[in-house]
Formats: sequence, structure tokens, C-alpha cells
Amino acid sequence: MMPGMAGADPDSVDIAGALAWARARIDLMDARVLLRHVLQCPAARLVAWPEQRLAGDDWGAYRALVERRLAGEPVAYLTGEREFFGREFIVTPAVLIPRPDTELLVELALAHFSGCKAVRVLDMGTGSGALAITLALELDEADVSALDCSREALWVAMANAARLGASVSFVQSDWFTALGEERFDLIVANPPYIAAADPHLDQGDVRFEPPGALASGPAGLDDLQEIVMQAPARLENHGYLFLEHGYDQAAAVRGLLADAGFAAIASWKDIAGIERVSGGRWLGRA
Ligand code: GLN
Repeated sequence: MMPGMAGADPDSVDIAGALAWARARIDLMDARVLLRHVLQCPAARLVAWPEQRLAGDDWGAYRALVERRLAGEPVAYLTGEREFFGREFIVTPAVLIPRPDTELLVELALAHFSGCKAVRVLDMGTGSGALAITLALELDEADVSALDCSREALWVAMANAARLGASVSFVQSDWFTALGEERFDLIVANPPYIAAADPHLDQGDVRFEPPGALASGPAGLDDLQEIVMQAPARLENHGYLFLEHGYDQAAAVRGLLADAGFAAIASWKDIAGIERVSGGRWLGRA
């Protein structure tokens, strides 16, 4: 008999029993997040009130979510949200799930532009909108644009901007193709950068994420290269380009930036100590 399972009624269970059932199948942290999602309750409730009984519907809904997690679906798609830089973002399978690594891009942008007024920012391949929306909310009076080639992703990003009260101009565009003549002080991107044949694409949570947001040519560098080559025509003189890339791509991206004529080229380490973002400054054509 499972702890907390009422002997007579297999359809009735308390919080402790539900978690015990789930943790035999999936990671305990995931089990807790999914139960909080079903019960719409704060984390403290699971600890403080283990004997609270689940309504039949909730227990059924919880079991279904745990089975889907067991089959590999990412927790963020099951709950429909993920935290990024202290805010909750809606996520669907149309968008990449925001990663903590990408907060480095936000920190770099803030380090360079905090206190500047009316900074014109472009986020390329915005997905859920996490980067663009965070920058719009963190930078004073920034004028933020965000593009994505996926209409479905833009719907998610627009819903997030509305929910979080951020003012961002969204454009459906395949990289720079649909943009007008405008130039930006800061361009950021977390583009697809995984090598097309990388076995990780067939493992774990990324199997459920949009392939177009992950893979980019034989070395994973195709989109990074396209962005770097075209960015000078879209940057104000003295503007910055910051790009997230793979764990082993920093030197290659610095090389692309040098070839394109950028100055002050550097790479920055993520929370795991891996060079994860590279960038440079566009000083204008020599
Ligand atoms: N960082 C993601 C991963 O390794 C990839 C994101 C991307 O390609 N932009 O799963």
C-alpha cells in the first residue's frame, strides 16, 4: 500500500501519497512542480499539508501529467510556463523553453546600457519573447523590437508582452529580411546553434522543442554567421552585438565577428563557467 493511499478507494489520495506515487516514476522536483500546477498552490502547501486529499479530477489530471513527463515531455510545456529573469513566461511547443544561460545576455545588455535613455534594441529569433520583454522592462524607455520567422512563436511572445506589460514591436521576419531601414544600438540573439547531426537533438527535452530553434547547419554556425555578417548594416556606429552560442563555439564566433569588422570582441561565461555569449562593437566602416 502506498503511503497516503486510502485503502478502500484507489481513486483517493493525499498530497504525500500523490508525490510518493510520482517520485517512483519521475524526478522529485518535477513531481512537485507538476503537483503545484494541478493544485495551483504555493510550494509551501505541499510541505505544510501533506495529508490534504486531492479531488478526483486533480488526481486524474496529475497522473496524466506525470505519465507525459515520464514519456519525455518537458515540464515547462506541461505547465505552460517557465521563469526567466524573475518573471513567468508562457511557453508552448512553438517556442524554445527559456534557459538560465540566456540570462547572461540580459546581464550584458544591462551592464552596457543601464542608465542610457531610449536605447534601440533588436532581439532576433525572439521565441517566447523572454529576451526582448525582459530588456523592455529592465531598460528605461528602451525602444525594443523583436523578430521571429515563426508566426506561432510571435503569438506566444505577444501574449507574454501583454501579460507582463512590456512594450515591444514584433515583426515576422527571417532574420533581417523583413526589417526596414532602421538601425539599432544593441542587437541580441539566441539563435539556433546546435550542429544538425548532434546526437543531443534526439535526447531529452530538446526532442520536444521546435527543431528550427535548435539546429543550424553542419557545425551549428550557419545562423550565427548570417547574423554577424548582416548586423553591421543594422547597427548604429558604436552599437553592440551580443550572441549566445554553443559551449564549443566561442572562438569560431569571435572569428566571425573579427571577419565582419567588429571591435572590442569578447566572450563571457555562463553560470556553468562556459563561454556562452560572444559579442563586439561596431565602430563603423573604416
Ligand atoms: N541552449 C540550448 C540547448 O543546448 C540550445 C539553444 C539554441 O540552439 N539556441 O539545449
